[in-house]
Amino acid sequence: MSPSTDTSTFALRARWVIPVASPPIAGGVVTVRDGRILSVERNAVDRPASRTFDLGDAALLPGFVNAHTHLEFSDLAAPLGEPGMAICDWIPRVVAERRRPERDSDAAVRAGIQESVRSGVTAIGEIAQPNWSAPAIESLPLAVNVYLELIGTGPQRAHELCAMADQHLRRTAPPDARWTPGISPHAPYSVDRAVVERLRDMPLAMHIAESRDELELLATASGPMRDMLAALGAWREGTFGGLSPADYIRSIVADASTSGFATAASAKASRTSAPALVVHGNYLDAESLDVLAASQRPVFVVYCPRTHFFFRHEPYPLAELRRRRIAVAIGTDSRASNPDLSVLAELRFLAATFPDVPPAEVLRMGTLAGAAALGRSDECGSIEPGKAADLAAIRLDAADKLTPYEQVLHGVGDVLATIAAGRAVYDPLGLIAAEPIH
Ligand SMILES: [Zn+2]
Repeated sequence: MSPSTDTSTFALRARWVIPVASPPIAGGVVTVRDGRILSVERNAVDRPASRTFDLGDAALLPGFVNAHTHLEFSDLAAPLGEPGMAICDWIPRVVAERRRPERDSDAAVRAGIQESVRSGVTAIGEIAQPNWSAPAIESLPLAVNVYLELIGTGPQRAHELCAMADQHLRRTAPPDARWTPGISPHAPYSVDRAVVERLRDMPLAMHIAESRDELELLATASGPMRDMLAALGAWREGTFGGLSPADYIRSIVADASTSGFATAASAKASRTSAPALVVHGNYLDAESLDVLAASQRPVFVVYCPRTHFFFRHEPYPLAELRRRRIAVAIGTDSRASNPDLSVLAELRFLAATFPDVPPAEVLRMGTLAGAAALGRSDECGSIEPGKAADLAAIRLDAADKLTPYEQVLHGVGDVLATIAAGRAVYDPLGLIAAEPIH
């Protein structure tokens, strides 16, 4: 196809291009063809002007990766409950919200997808309910890991959950869609460890070490979380006591060859090298950190900065995770505990909370590390030739004497445009006016 008729090729110029995997480029130009990044250059020439769009005073970044959310709550105007509330008081509110008869979770997921692209997010680790809707997820060309949430205890329920997981893992997206299936055993207090061990070789995300109450329940089978489970009719005698988060993390990261639980069906669907996500990890103890650091399986801790702050947890163990070189990705969690679904806002909050973390590393957590956490680092997470053209343009408003990373993280500039798989999915100013962009 000659350049003059090739409508699938266009170029974006910005004051800064921040590829993440390589140093920022002043006046960089990113060329896109057929939904993929063709080249990343400084002041590229030789382009038909009509196909080059100048984003002006902006930084062009890889699209952000939200490694953990629950889009079903994206229609909430504000988090449930009050800041600083106990998680054992908050969970019943979530349960009640989910049971609200007039709820339209499909519309909420669509709203969450739309809000994500307005925030520059192009890849999502989504925790989905059994009635999740593929068309809602496919409403925009985002890369979504659909982790089916598994909740319930007891042998009969374990059997049901494994069957549900098996069915979900067999699903495949249509050729032009970008979602892949995974599973999410909810948390140590809400799903049996036998289920986790049976499914552990799958792409997996699990809330672990989220609260002190959870640790108390595991260790002593008592405390506020026991009372909460009893009130919800979900208490099972003899399940807890003498356990710690490390036991669950071990169940997830253990070498697949030692698994004695894999069913024929799950073995067939096995993706042994698929990353595992330990979501929150607010109260990871030394033993848990040891297990994570020694894991042969790729494992990521997903820090949800503003949700952590909403509950007024103790300081996040980020320094310890970094010291042990345990990979950290970033999630917003849902709007039931967070004001919005912006990973950029999470990164700015993190940068302000942890000024010692180098800005380049902060940005990597919300892009390339997140892509790796979703098993998609070959596909997205950085601006590199061959990867999907998943891009976010951020308005630069901070002093130019700052580094480009700092201008993004210390500024308040909003998202100007978002591109997913080469398509302008958010472009309110018409900066990328070429039509059609495929
Ligand atoms: Zn969550």
